[in-house]
Amino acid sequence: MKRILVTGGAGFIGSHLCARLLNEGNEVICLDNYFTGNKQNIVDLMHHPYFELVRHDVTEPFMAEVDEIYNLACPASPVHYQYNPIKTMKTSVMGAINTLGLAKRVRAKILQASTSEVYGDPYVHPQPESYWGNVNTIGPRSCYDEGKRCAETLFMDYFNQHNIDIKIVRIFNTYGPNMNPNDGRVVSNFIVQALKGEEITIFGSGNQTRSFQYVDNLVDGMVRMMGTQRGFTGPVNIGNPNEFTMLELAQTILDITGSSSKLSFKALPKDDPQQRRPDIAIAKKCLDGWEPDIQLREGLTKTIQYFEEVLMQEPQIVQA
Ligand code: NAD
Ligand code: UDP
Repeated sequence: MKRILVTGGAGFIGSHLCARLLNEGNEVICLDNYFTGNKQNIVDLMHHPYFELVRHDVTEPFMAEVDEIYNLACPASPVHYQYNPIKTMKTSVMGAINTLGLAKRVRAKILQASTSEVYGDPYVHPQPESYWGNVNTIGPRSCYDEGKRCAETLFMDYFNQHNIDIKIVRIFNTYGPNMNPNDGRVVSNFIVQALKGEEITIFGSGNQTRSFQYVDNLVDGMVRMMGTQRGFTGPVNIGNPNEFTMLELAQTILDITGSSSKLSFKALPKDDPQQRRPDIAIAKKCLDGWEPDIQLREGLTKTIQYFEEVLMQEPQIVQA
């Protein structure tokens, strides 16, 4: 049995990762400051004898004897990471320093949840790991993009300087149950809007693209990456290369929900990347046969079911 620390474990991806690691017979310490995470996401795990929940902020050091660390703590939705950009940068940079310091002290293996955002608004398409990206250092997305880039640098420096067993995965847009209805990212926004019969908010023309991955495929890739041999650091892209415009995404969600919501076009946020698709050749080769096998319609159907249940539990406003 391994003892595994998951920072950001009460968030969307972290909650799925904690469940998977417990199911595999590990002991899990879930650390979170609840900025965007929610106890509801992990309530089913609370009674597990090998699950421990700690309220803690990764900008402060944390001590525990652990074998592995997954560092996920960081708000991921543009709305939330731009709310307090200095804190976002601190979370990525000081969070990396503190978790790497812990890994060094207890000689734990450590995996960083990096992001496709390190490629910024990419000129190379699809994006291989060798592409250095096109990131604005002083724009509204910079606190997240540059924070994550700096964290990658720190991970590689701890590997080179202290021989810490580090792993870096670059995660592409991921969706699934446990996303917060108010998360602000496109999949949850469109699903909630469709289910409530509200206008679907398309930013810009809706012709910008993203490649959406179902959360189970991501978690599987992360666990496989952690299992790779010492010295294999990555970065490795983990995503589903099937690429869609936001208009296609909206139409698919309208089809599945049967909603009659209308599209409403809003301004495109500054520095919004125009296209994004992972090159996953390295992941397929090095992660023991990993390949995303849950496609958009199937994944969206499961996610929509989840949101239907969540919205049913919301208090209803009763008209007098
Ligand atoms: P999320 O917002 O649901 O989860 C992030 C979690 O980190 C939350 O539980 C939040 O409360 C916690 N957190 C934030 N700041 C913290 C701090 N200072 N100290 C302790 N906990 C803190 O987002 P997610 O989608 O689950 O993303 C998880 C990780 O994966 C993030 O690092 C994100 O950058 C990365 N990622 C996600 C995606 C995606 O599409 N979901 C894509 C690329 C990278
Ligand atoms: N988007 C949109 N409507 C929304 C939310 C987002 O059209 O209600 C667009 C956004 O402009 C971007 C894409 O959807 O082009 C993905 O946005 P998200 O915030 O989910 O993730 P990211 O931009 O970080 O990939």
